[in-house]
Formats: sequence, structure tokens, C-alpha cells
Amino acid sequence: MNAATAEGLLHLIAAEPALLASAPADADESDLHLRAREGRHLCLGCGQPARCAVIVNSNTDGPRWLDLCSPCWQTVRTANVVYGEVEGAERPGDADGQAGS
Ligand SMILES: [Zn+2]
Repeated sequence: MNAATAEGLLHLIAAEPALLASAPADADESDLHLRAREGRHLCLGCGQPARCAVIVNSNTDGPRWLDLCSPCWQTVRTANVVYGEVEGAERPGDADGQAGS
């Protein structure tokens, strides 16, 4: 998967989050590791067995699993710098986000 494909993938997820499996709202790091270790999920990018699991928070559909193999995850994580939609990845500044409490 190249960078353009990764960007397209993120656009697709943003447009059709229901394509992804619903994730628990309170998933923590152990849930992410557990899903990645299950080994029965396929990479959304290339169809190989997924080695990484991340959660995409959809504004309309809530948290969703995004399963990726290692190479695709690296590509998506780079593309994510632009879109900032994958939780757990580094984001650019969050100055316009909610202030929190
Ligand atoms: Zn892949």
C-alpha cells in the first residue's frame, strides 16, 4: 500500500465508517494488543493477516476497528499525520480541539 492508497483508505473510512467492525467505546491498550494477536482479522489495505489494530473514532458511527498488517500500518500512520483520525498515532497540534475540563 502506498501513501496515496493510505489516504484513500482514510477517506473511505471517514465516508463509510460502517465498513469497519464496531469497537468497544472503552477499549484500552490491552484490547488493541489482544485483537492484533487474535490473528483472524485481515488487513484492510492488502488482505494479509493483520498484525496491528487501531481504533478510528467516527463522528457518526462511534469507535471502529481498523486492522492492518505492519507495512500498511506504517503507511497509514504516515498518511495519518495529514488527517489525524487514527487514535494512538501522533497528531499535529490540537489547538482547535475541545478544551476538556
Ligand atoms: Zn496490509
